[in-house]
Amino acid sequence: MLMRKERRSAIRTLRGWAISVLQETGAIRECEEHGWMQDRTDPHAHQRAFDVARQEPPDGLSGTEAVAEIEDVLASIGDTCPECPPDC
Ligand SMILES: [Zn+2]
Repeated sequence: MLMRKERRSAIRTLRGWAISVLQETGAIRECEEHGWMQDRTDPHAHQRAFDVARQEPPDGLSGTEAVAEIEDVLASIGDTCPECPPDC
């Protein structure tokens, strides 16, 4: 039986790209315990991520669109892990 992984969601792929850029630049980090992404609220790291997006946009995207994608993902990520105790 032939199984094929379909890549029907371009948005999902783009989001994955944006998350990897944000992680590489230190703009976000993953909760070690729960795996949720957290915004480190570091404006310099945000700026670095935007620079990378503008200079090295993924295939089929302009620098401006790539920056917009980073902004989108950043807006969807909170600065705390939803599963960690609030006082930790
Ligand atoms: Zn957590």
